[in-house]
Amino acid sequence: MRIDVLTIFPQMFDVPFSFGIFKRAVDQNLVSINVHNIRDYTHDKHHTVDDSPYGGGPGMVFKPEPVFEAVAAVKAQVTTEPEVAEPLVILLTPQGRLFNQRIATELSGYRHLIMLCGHYEGIDERVVEHLVTDEISIGDYVLTGGELPALVVIDTVIRLLPGVLGSEDSAQEDSHMNGMLEYPQYTRPSVFRDWPVPEALLSGNHAQIARWRRQQVIQRTLERRPDLIDMSKLGQEEKQMVEQFNSLYKAKSSLNKEPEK
Ligand code: SAM
Repeated sequence: MRIDVLTIFPQMFDVPFSFGIFKRAVDQNLVSINVHNIRDYTHDKHHTVDDSPYGGGPGMVFKPEPVFEAVAAVKAQVTTEPEVAEPLVILLTPQGRLFNQRIATELSGYRHLIMLCGHYEGIDERVVEHLVTDEISIGDYVLTGGELPALVVIDTVIRLLPGVLGSEDSAQEDSHMNGMLEYPQYTRPSVFRDWPVPEALLSGNHAQIARWRRQQVIQRTLERRPDLIDMSKLGQEEKQMVEQFNSLYKAKSSLNKEPEK
């Protein structure tokens, strides 16, 4: 996969791409990440990328010309193979579709992503209308710029690429990969400050461990994110677990109720 990032603060990407999984993925040529300074595509003495908004109001707005030029330059760098689909041009914006694991999986199937990081009040709407092909928000809050959102998206997508994580399975069982939260994890020592690791995990019995984990997945998701549970996607055993936990919670909550006077 190739990822091009367009930003006015390219230095913000220096450190994250120099460590851990990012660096390994780049070193192994599983992904190439190219960061471009939008100011390099301006033609005035001051490298102006922004201007005041038409109609008045606070702040500044990214001008369209440097952004169009930067995207055209990136596209021109890429060898045009007819069978390769056009890159996605993603604008990071609080107005975009809300990022999640499903969207990350979808993006991980592309060969080339171009990510556009805004600043100030945002970007001239003509960029959105005529250049951008996808708009992504990382949450219902407003950050100063698109760099941190771009890093969030890139990190989530890269770890899904084949070969990036140590074991193929380690992403598969993660929270949100299958619409649920992951089971709790433990490591040595088996007892720490009188707190033992659950017995099932020490049993060495793979079937027992797998069942305990399935139960934990259901219980955690019901307790923390019941909105994620989609009964129609569950197997028979999981449906039974949901029903068992639900009746357990009902019984508990009726015990905790104040007696009627
Ligand atoms: N005035 C814009 C609005 O109300 O929609 C917000 C502009 S924000 C201060 C500046 C830039 O930060 C945006 O252009 C975008 O690139 C980025 N940004 C801020 N919040 C974001 C979010 N939740 N998700 C993705 N990008 C965000």
